[in-house]
Amino acid sequence: MAKKKMRTPEEASRDQAAAALLERAYRLEIETSFSRADEIVPCPIGAEGLCCKNCAMGPCRLVGKTDRGVCGATIATVVARNFCRAVAVGAASHSDHGRDLAYTLLGAAEGHAPDYKIRDPFKLLEVAGYLGVKTDGRPLEEVARDVALAALGEFGRVQGELLYVKRAPPKRQEIWRKLGISPRSIDREVVDLLHRTHIGNDQDAEHLLDQAMRCALSDGWGGSMLATDISDILFGTPAPVRSEANLGVLREDQVNIIIHGHEPTLSEMIVAAAQDPELIEYAKSKGAAGINLAGICCTANETLMREGIPL
Ligand code: SF4
Repeated sequence: MAKKKMRTPEEASRDQAAAALLERAYRLEIETSFSRADEIVPCPIGAEGLCCKNCAMGPCRLVGKTDRGVCGATIATVVARNFCRAVAVGAASHSDHGRDLAYTLLGAAEGHAPDYKIRDPFKLLEVAGYLGVKTDGRPLEEVARDVALAALGEFGRVQGELLYVKRAPPKRQEIWRKLGISPRSIDREVVDLLHRTHIGNDQDAEHLLDQAMRCALSDGWGGSMLATDISDILFGTPAPVRSEANLGVLREDQVNIIIHGHEPTLSEMIVAAAQDPELIEYAKSKGAAGINLAGICCTANETLMREGIPL
């Protein structure tokens, strides 16, 4: 297969700072995601979603005259199954992040996670209302505990539909119910979607995609929304802040720590640790002027909007 043309730094990025750094990386022969992207030729069958390896009779590549897998799955079914698996993974990843935050809130409320506090009590009371948790005259820790347990209950809800569905406009809720895609529980929709994509289960592409929508809704109106709400409770609801962005945020004379990933439970603790006088002294004892914190990717956006940490 023909090799792809290597891009110049200016072709790889419009950003002048990134292009300058790529230029240096090329000169020093350091591999980057840009150079790897240039070296790897994407598989055209994979790009179209035409390869199925969902069972041991495959992998089946539906190309040329082959329009069905060994099991009889059509091109539409295979493409839909591959897309559904991507939706399930994305929903699982985002929603499980919400579960982690609910457990953190529970730990904070019960005193097992003393470094985490309820920073936005108004948001806690608002979320309690959405989840049907009583608030009148109750200590915040008790409310937080019940909110955390109610949030965790949404992951394995046994009957009915997600409580947050009622936050959507009534007309939208009706459309979801009419289509049979109103989410029932967060975990269940992911499991149901994966279940359907296996051999001998759901063979109908449109039917598969209906469940992909229900799974996506369980994330958007379930796991992800709970993650955002609980992050606001624990780390404060964002307000406009001024900060800096791009490679110029790195400091030559300091220990640079780059926050990466999507769990704010860790990055918020790194923000706190970077301000610890003992750690700053330690950095200084090694010849640095201090500790410089910046971020990249999703969790960096969280620390940017909540703490003003540069990106
Ligand atoms: S599920 Fe069907 S199409 Fe997929 S690998 Fe097995 S036999 Fe092939």
